[in-house]
Amino acid sequence: MSFPPVSNPLYSVELFPPKTPEGMDKLKLEIARLNALGPAYFSVTYGAGGSTREGTFETVAWLRGLGIETAPHLACIGSSRDEVREILNQYLGQGIRRLVALRGDMPSGMGAGNSGDFRYANDLVSFVRAEFGDAFQIEVAAYPEYHPQSGSPARDLENFKRKVEAGADGAITQYFYNADAYFAFVESCRKEGIEVPIIPGIMPITNYTQLARFSDTCGAEIPRWVRRRLEGYGDDVESIRAFGHEVVQRLCRELLAGGAPGLHFYTMNQSGPVQALWRELGLSD
Ligand code: FAD
Repeated sequence: MSFPPVSNPLYSVELFPPKTPEGMDKLKLEIARLNALGPAYFSVTYGAGGSTREGTFETVAWLRGLGIETAPHLACIGSSRDEVREILNQYLGQGIRRLVALRGDMPSGMGAGNSGDFRYANDLVSFVRAEFGDAFQIEVAAYPEYHPQSGSPARDLENFKRKVEAGADGAITQYFYNADAYFAFVESCRKEGIEVPIIPGIMPITNYTQLARFSDTCGAEIPRWVRRRLEGYGDDVESIRAFGHEVVQRLCRELLAGGAPGLHFYTMNQSGPVQALWRELGLSD
């Protein structure tokens, strides 16, 4: 259930916008370290409802100022068409040609009853294509272990197909630790005639409590044996990191050997774990 390795895989990294000036200063150092690895592009997350708007713009502007290829995320829920148009015009002016188009989840306490002009990510993709033609390469989100709100895997796949038919060029997945889930998802997509590249999202394992909390929210499964081992390390951060590194490195090798068209690293704004993976996997070669 895998595919032949591809000849030119794409490796990219993701950042989130810091909340404070000190966080931004730290991030600038991490950006320099990550950029030395030579990723194809940096993506920068965006809080639905504009909750990280200024931070996203600042981070994107910093990256562009360094001449780095940047893909801002844009989460449409809670936004108006005019707001989205304005943001995209700003990005075009900064030489941005790549976007990650999402629905997003409204932060709690923000905007009940204000879902804005867009309902789903496919609405955003259609809007970008209608207003900006092919000015942007558009990536969308994919869920090999299925989106937590989806009625069924078949329905989720149909909804993923809507985004591709609306004009997405490719997809980045939610993170997962089971390569079979990815390959099975890609196979289902191909059977449905969805041919765009689907790049696995890779979450390094550095902090078990945080990872368990995220995974519960976003529906990503931590395999039982991995969970048990991580729990067993308690507060021993070094052992968690070393074991996490082994698990994720093995996953990446399996994915690339099985034909994944690249890897997108959720860096959590820390260069160290990604640098170690990048080096050992020989991604700069
Ligand atoms: P959609 O594709 O719209 O899907 C959402 C749900 O609705 C799914 O259950 C789907 O099956 C269903 N659905 C979709 N279309 C339809 C339709 N037409 N009719 C009926 N049902 C439908 N969140 C942020 O806030 N900011 C970020 O920067 C961000 N970056 C992300 C990057 C990646 C690579 C990934 C995988 C996720 C990211 N997220 C981000 C999280 C994402 O916003 C959430 O997972 C959100 O719940 C769904 O967004 P989506 O774009 O996948 O939504």
